[in-house]
Amino acid sequence: MGFCAWEETKLQKTKAKSEMEAIRTAEVLKDSFLAFGEKFTILLKGIANRLNIVLLVRIIGIGLLIAITLLNSSVHAQNGTSTSKKFTVCIDPGHGGNQPGTFGAFSKEKDVTLKISLLLGKILEESMPDVKVVYTRKTDMTIGLRERAKVANDNHADIFLSIHANSLPETTPYARKQAIFGTETYVLGLHKTQESLEVAMRENSVILLEENYEEKYQGFEPNSPESYILFSLNQSANHEASIQLASLIEDQFGNRAGRKSRGVKQAGFQVLWETAMPAVLIEIGYLSNVKEEKELNTSQVQEYIASAIYRAVKEYKNKVKSLN
Ligand SMILES: [Zn+2]
Repeated sequence: MGFCAWEETKLQKTKAKSEMEAIRTAEVLKDSFLAFGEKFTILLKGIANRLNIVLLVRIIGIGLLIAITLLNSSVHAQNGTSTSKKFTVCIDPGHGGNQPGTFGAFSKEKDVTLKISLLLGKILEESMPDVKVVYTRKTDMTIGLRERAKVANDNHADIFLSIHANSLPETTPYARKQAIFGTETYVLGLHKTQESLEVAMRENSVILLEENYEEKYQGFEPNSPESYILFSLNQSANHEASIQLASLIEDQFGNRAGRKSRGVKQAGFQVLWETAMPAVLIEIGYLSNVKEEKELNTSQVQEYIASAIYRAVKEYKNKVKSLN
């Protein structure tokens, strides 16, 4: 048996197993629609398997699946806004350790994102004593996407900020690289442009470096556009809040911090999908742009960016407070 044939058999087996699980979950749904709450754990388990989503949609229809997703989100949302604890901000410096992220002419994404993240945490702790800051990493260490989200979920963070730097593909003509710069803040959703899909694919591709990624991410293929269709199902209660937070951040970047804001966008970022609270992924600028790379490596611009995010968090927290 050749390698390809073997691979195919393995794939078929995975698909068959997945189909069985989807049918089982669908049966539970059909049989006990009224006893929905009791079966919640089983449902979540079914949904947790990404391969099953397409099958589930086929079997039970999209309406019910959205209902489940909404129920799922509202449970998470209730957990996330408990009044008995400090407002918790989870800061996630992108990449790290043996995953450098993207490169500029002289700097690496993992280093720039760590510096700005630590600065942001310091400003938050000093200026808002009623806020708790947790980090997914504070040093140059390797950490998987799922583990990052777990830190936020385990700490019942109120918001999750994943900090990254952008770049255009290496094959992009030099002139275009120098023409494109600025910040983008992403929320989870189905991409509306090819560019957004490409940014998500690049950021998600880090899971390929993780051990047993196929098993861990249950069939999610970071380089296959088909995998991204599942993000169209994101009807999360956190979606609106995430957009609000992202808008405040981009507004600060563009109007207060002297950055060029390229706006709020949405795409399928694995790390945002795994979090159970309002979550954004901030691309602080393009390392593929010579001028912007230099700026992002100065302490002054790092301070501007961190302060801008801090002010947005403060504004967001006040808005949430005024609603409660
Ligand atoms: Zn990144």
